[in-house]
Order: sequence, then structure tokens, then C-alpha cells
Amino acid sequence: MAVNIIAEECKGCTKCVNSCPFEAITMENKKAVIGPACNNCGACVDQCPFGAIKQTEDEKKGVDISEYHGVWVFAEQRNGELMKVAIELLGEGRKLADEIGTELSAVLCGHNVSDLAGELIAYGADKVYLADDPRLASYTTDAYTKVIYQAIMAYKPEIVILGATHIGRDLGPCLAVKCGTGLTADCTKLEIDPTDKKLMQTRPAFGGNLMATIVCPNHRPQMSTVRPGVMEKAAYDKSRQGSVINLKVNISKSDLRTKVLEFVRGIGEVASISDADIIVSGGRGLGGPEGFNLLRELAAKLGGTIGASRAAVDSGWIDHSFQVGQTGTTVKPKLYVACGISGAIQHLAGMQNSDYIVAINKNESAPIFEVADYGIVGDLYKVIPAIIEALDSRAQ
Ligand code: FAD
Ligand code: SF4
Ligand code: SF4
Repeated sequence: MAVNIIAEECKGCTKCVNSCPFEAITMENKKAVIGPACNNCGACVDQCPFGAIKQTEDEKKGVDISEYHGVWVFAEQRNGELMKVAIELLGEGRKLADEIGTELSAVLCGHNVSDLAGELIAYGADKVYLADDPRLASYTTDAYTKVIYQAIMAYKPEIVILGATHIGRDLGPCLAVKCGTGLTADCTKLEIDPTDKKLMQTRPAFGGNLMATIVCPNHRPQMSTVRPGVMEKAAYDKSRQGSVINLKVNISKSDLRTKVLEFVRGIGEVASISDADIIVSGGRGLGGPEGFNLLRELAAKLGGTIGASRAAVDSGWIDHSFQVGQTGTTVKPKLYVACGISGAIQHLAGMQNSDYIVAINKNESAPIFEVADYGIVGDLYKVIPAIIEALDSRAQ
């Protein structure tokens, strides 16, 4: 379906403007105009007292995709520090841009963050679109969406990728709705179709039992979120040159429906596993929450942290922030030790790209051994103390 204004019949009464939930209708020269944020919902059609809005069959309606060029990466920062996922997205974005034969740009929002622009260029960006303003100091959906949406409308990138962080998962869908395009969440693979240069976005579907590849043929930009830890980090080259484009920050008080009053840190043990080099992870095979004390001891000896399977989290043995897997965190440590974890596909989705995987399981047919570099068949309550003892005797 497509929704259009019949200009000759429009009397300029403005009734339709407020009827659109997506703020897609504006008035130009006393005539209503439907912008790219329209998703053809049809809500405005009956609001026009003059019958000037018509909905017609037009399955293929989209935008003129030839107007859209370049790959954009949302450069998420917190307190002036780039998130690791932004560097991973620059690595992936560089590959995509090179395959299309176009530019890679980073979009950076915040306050007093202009120093990061040089970092983004060193990590592969050709251009940095910078919105530096006190009203962007803390992330708010309204402010970030408005600034980036206006930049997308002005510069028309063909691809926009964001990290599947709490912020990216909030911002991405808002931008996609405003732009009237689609978004594929939690992608694990991005590729360019060599025949038409469109983005092929692959993500797990049906509980991780199959992989779906999704394309966005008629709308732009093509948008995806990508989980932290899935893509390779971009290489750093201080000698790279690029340009910085300052974005106009056009936000009025009425645009902002929320205000950040203060940050309150979570109470209790909360994990930060996405950046860890060594993770000792426990599953249902631990038999109870006390089992994590043994894993903490081993993790401390190795200089790492602990992780968990969903079964351990669902049993209430440990906080969800420790969960590795499809509905937890994706990790890519140098060493992943899976203790009493069977190796369900949804768990593997979050850790199989680790550099080295060691599995300890008393069932020699457990699927975790198929992805493990080293497998130890045995009771974890015997194996782990033996490893700790061996590490202790080596340290003496
Ligand atoms: P189990 O499968 O019960 O395995 C326990 C293992 O411990 C067994 O292999 C057993 O041989 C071994 N064992 C028992 N005792 C010992 C011992 N003393 N010493 C050594 N080995 C022992 N799971 C995740 O982990 N992360 C996710 O993000 C996730 N997302 C999901 C999303 C969806 C949509 C669905 C449907 C499922 C998801 N799951 C996820 C659940 C997943 O399918 C499995 O149920 C879960 O991973 C099993 O956890 P586990 O390996 O700890 O438990
Ligand atoms: Fe024009 Fe109808 Fe909108 Fe009034 S309601 S501005 S007549 S399209
Ligand atoms: Fe807005 Fe829906 Fe009308 Fe499009 S069809 S202009 S989204 S109300």
C-alpha cells in the first residue's frame, strides 16, 4: 500500500498533521506533504475532511535507492570512551564499504567528545559526523534519534549499523521507524550481495535452530544491529586521514520527553563479561549456586572472570548479566572454560568464536566437545580442584 496526498484537493486545513503517529506529515506552501517516515499505516486517510489523502495498492513503494550512498557506523561512547563494539563495527563497516566501493563514516554523539573523532578515523572511518552538544551528554532516545535521523535524511547513507547494546537496541528501531525502513536485529553476519551490492543480514531464527538471511530491497538505509563480540575489531592506524563534519544539533525542549536525573549502579554482583580475555563458565552440571565459588577460584588463578549458561541463570544461581549465549552476552575471550555445560546451540551461539575452548563434562557425548579445542571427560568437582592444584604448584 502507498499513501499519497492529492495536492489539488488539499485545502491546507492541517487536520492530518497531528493524526500521523510517525510525524510524517508536514505543511509546505499550505499543502500537506508526506515524508519518508511514512510507513503506510493508513491512519491519516479518514482524517481528511476533503478526501485528499488516498491509499493505493503499491507493494513496491520505497525510496529512490540510487540516492543513498555510504556505510555508517554508530560510534557508541560512554563517558567519552568508545565502546568496544564501535571498533568492531568499524572493522566490519570497512569491509562492507570496500566491497561496495563506497565511504565508511562514523556517527558520534555526545558532549566534549570531539577527541574521539581522530580515534574513529584511525580505526578506519573516512568521515566522522559529529554532534557535540551538552544535551547529548547522556543518551536519551529522543535527542539521539532526532539528531541522527536528521543527519540520515540530509546525507542519505545506504547502510547504518549499530551495536546491539542497550542503547543500540533502543536507538536502532526508533531510527528505522522514523526513516520508514526495516531493521534486522542481532545480526551475526553481514555480507554484500555481489550481484546488486545489497546488504545480506544474517541472524539466528526459530530459537537459534536456523539462520535467516534478510535483505531490505526497496527502502533505505539498510539497518542492522550487531552483537558485541561477534565481529573482528578494526586495525588501528594513527596515520589514517579523514574528515569531520559537524552536525547541527536542532533539538527543542519539547522534543525531549525524558531527562536523566542520576545514574544508580546495580546492586549485587553484576558481570562485565563481554570484554573478558578469560571466562570460566558454569552450567546446570554445577548442581547448585555454591559451584560458582569453585569457578571463581579457578577464574581468579587464571586472571579471568566467571560466566554461566542459561540453565544456571534460570535456576537462580547467578545474575543474568553472566549469561553467555543467544539471549545473553556474546563473548570472544582468548580462553573459554565450559564446566558442566552441555553445549546447546543457543549457548554455542554466544561463545563458539572464542580463541580456545576447554570443556569439562562427565558425559563424553556432550555436544560441547564438538566445539572444544581441549575436552576433559570427568566430574568437574574432581577436575577443577586438580587444575587449581597444578596451577598452584607451577606458581611455587
Ligand atoms: P544442561 O543442558 O542440563 O547440561 C548440563 C551438563 O552438565 C550436561 O552435559 C551434563 O553431562 C554435565 N554435568 C552434570 N554434572 C556434571 C559434573 N559433576 N561434572 C561435569 N559435567 C557435569 N542457553 C544458554 O546457555 N544461553 C542462552 O543465551 C540461551 N538462550 C536460549 C534461547 C532460546 C530461545 C532457547 C529456546 C533456549 C536458550 N538457551 C540458552 C537454553 C539452551 O537451549 C539450554 O537449555 C541451556 O544452554 C542448557 O544449559 P546447561 O548446558 O547448563 O544445562
Ligand atoms: Fe490537506 Fe486533507 Fe491534510 Fe487538510 S487534512 S491538510 S485538506 S490533506
Ligand atoms: Fe502517517 Fe500513517 Fe498517514 Fe503515513 S499513512 S502519513 S504514517 S498516518
